[in-house]
Amino acid sequence: NRRVVLNSRPSGAPTRDNFRIEEQPVTEPAQGEVLLRTVYLSLDPYMRGRMNEGPSYAPPVELGEVMVGGTVSRVEASRHPDFQPGDLVLGYSGWQEYEVCDGSGLNKLPAQFPHPSYALGVLGMPGFTAYVGLLDIGAPKGGETLVVAAATGAVGSAVGQIAKLKGCRTVGIAGGEEKCRIAVEEFGFERCLDHHRADLAAQLKEACPKGIDIYYENVGGKVFQAVWPLLNQHARVPVCGLIAHYNQFGPGEGPDRLPLLMGAVLARRIRVQGFIISDHYETRLADFTREMGQWVRDGQVQAREQLIEGLDQAPQGLIDLLAGKNLGKVVVRVSPQ
Ligand code: NDP
Repeated sequence: NRRVVLNSRPSGAPTRDNFRIEEQPVTEPAQGEVLLRTVYLSLDPYMRGRMNEGPSYAPPVELGEVMVGGTVSRVEASRHPDFQPGDLVLGYSGWQEYEVCDGSGLNKLPAQFPHPSYALGVLGMPGFTAYVGLLDIGAPKGGETLVVAAATGAVGSAVGQIAKLKGCRTVGIAGGEEKCRIAVEEFGFERCLDHHRADLAAQLKEACPKGIDIYYENVGGKVFQAVWPLLNQHARVPVCGLIAHYNQFGPGEGPDRLPLLMGAVLARRIRVQGFIISDHYETRLADFTREMGQWVRDGQVQAREQLIEGLDQAPQGLIDLLAGKNLGKVVVRVSPQ
């Protein structure tokens, strides 16, 4: 059983040395257990947070422990009444080829599921995050302007497409011309702006002549700096992620803009609300599964994946994801389906 464990904690951007690849024998399942073979492993920005010491909204990965992660796996052997060899299941085996577990937290993928790896992306946690953050906190209305960054990523691409289905004018922000072209051509953004350009703030102002009603916050940093002067009265800001800061150490540089920002929140009656998707499964997963499943089947929501071959490539995959070198939902193919 090949597995990737946390070797050391990063300070700043993670490096290959922070990970270690180990081999262990595969064990047999005991009564009530199943043996899973990982087919797909999801790589996600939150994994950077789990590499830090100290609690956040979830406990950290300990040194020497297997890196955490959502997986689609094949049941290889089962001594559990609910699972048969050959079943495909969504679980949380982490960065390893095999896992023996007691079946809790496993969900069988329905036979008609379009692509198994979508269970980690557009029809899984990131798609659900887009759905809940946008609809329940962003509360989009027809004719409003929505802005989202990381617009070709797993969450951002779904946010843009759902907002468009709800009648919003969607403006994406992404890193580089190629990503911006894809945002417009594949995900239907009306405009997409490259955040590497020095004139981002001026471009955004021009692209949002009626201001911004919903800013779905994925990144923070200079994108947020460009956005907040344009937020309209009663704007909504679902705070989903702040990836520009995940590799940052300490409070960062620059003047303290907090008084100005909070002044704008007050005077313009802006609603800023953070959320963690794990809180919403019980109440909203069924709606998401039904509605998003239909949109994907109908072709109204498109998904783009970047497949990485082999578990050994997972560390570099995460390093690249945090540096914006991915294009679409990053999935590691650990073994053949
Ligand atoms: P993506 O597939 O979008 O990949 C991350 C992208 O972030 C990169 O491709 C890059 O896109 C962008 N990025 C990285 N650094 C910067 C930077 N300094 N400035 C601007 N953009 C940057 O990831 P996900 O769709 O999986 O996640 C998007 C966000 O949603 C993350 O912040 C994540 O933490 C958050 N999230 C939150 C959840 C919650 O429960 N609250 C659940 C799931 C995700 P580009 O090159 O286009 O800039």
